[in-house]
Amino acid sequence: MKWRIVPGLDLDTIKNTKCLLLGSGTLGSYVGRALLAWGVRKITFVDNGKVSFSNPVRQPLYKFEDCVDGGSNKAETAANALKEVFPLVDAQGVSLEVPMAGHPITNEPKQKADFDKLVQLIDEHDAIFLLMDSRETRWLPTVIGNVKHKIVLNAALGFESYLVMRHGCLKPGTDLTKEDDQSRLGCYFCNDVYAPSDSTSDRTLDQMCTVTRPGVALMASSLAVELLASVLQHKDKQFADHDVENVTALGGLPHQLRGFLHSFEILKLKAQNYKFCAGCSYAVLNEFENNGWDFVKKALNKSKYIEELTGLTKVHKEAEEAELLLDIEDSDDELV
Ligand SMILES: [Zn+2]
Repeated sequence: MKWRIVPGLDLDTIKNTKCLLLGSGTLGSYVGRALLAWGVRKITFVDNGKVSFSNPVRQPLYKFEDCVDGGSNKAETAANALKEVFPLVDAQGVSLEVPMAGHPITNEPKQKADFDKLVQLIDEHDAIFLLMDSRETRWLPTVIGNVKHKIVLNAALGFESYLVMRHGCLKPGTDLTKEDDQSRLGCYFCNDVYAPSDSTSDRTLDQMCTVTRPGVALMASSLAVELLASVLQHKDKQFADHDVENVTALGGLPHQLRGFLHSFEILKLKAQNYKFCAGCSYAVLNEFENNGWDFVKKALNKSKYIEELTGLTKVHKEAEEAELLLDIEDSDDELV
């Protein structure tokens, strides 16, 4: 690539970037393969599950034989599969459950140990990929990734649509006790006025699984890895603004990509951070910095806690009041 097409490409930075893949399902499998193709040498998979019979046809790091006898450990199997492709890769699998906002604590010693391990893993890596299958699992790594100033890439799937984005990043030395200045790019939770809560309990199996057109995961995974490659070519890396012009050796560096297979369209979008965000507002980051696990525990046990902390509860109340006012005005119009 350097010799013939992009002489300015910095391949060493890509090769030396340590990547943490949270989720070793369809997205995790394809992201792992695409990172390998770019020459990334350190890839760590995190997952809590076992390989099941429905996995291999969609998740290319698993085979039918991985499913028998209750299934092998997903993260370790994925890491071993990458090593079969390229023995020199430093691939590891870690089995842990990412603590989820709105899912109350049931086994504190285990959940605290998983939390500590997650913090350690994020510390040890440069780029964190959020490739899980629920909104609430993405919350904690979003918070930790921001506090630790990491590159965070997120890929989420709909039936025929996907979202691939890089999270905005807090600048080191920021005073978190001040009012959030909304000067950075947003995170996955910035466009929402509700904090993540339990979206899996009391659902049927088909409601819990991600049902998508098969190609959507490949597209989103490839784009997430290509977005990382472009971030690494920018002088400001994770702090770089959205720019679709020629800002790196590889071209543009958008904030978000939203793709739709229905119309075969990709939108390049930018959204600033939201000062009441459940994932990246100063209020949340400050509380995490000061209270760590105790803060996380509150967020796990009580889904409304984050909304109260960030000011989202107040936003909801104001919205309700505004709606009431609107109703009154409407009825006035009718009287006239
Ligand atoms: Zn946010």
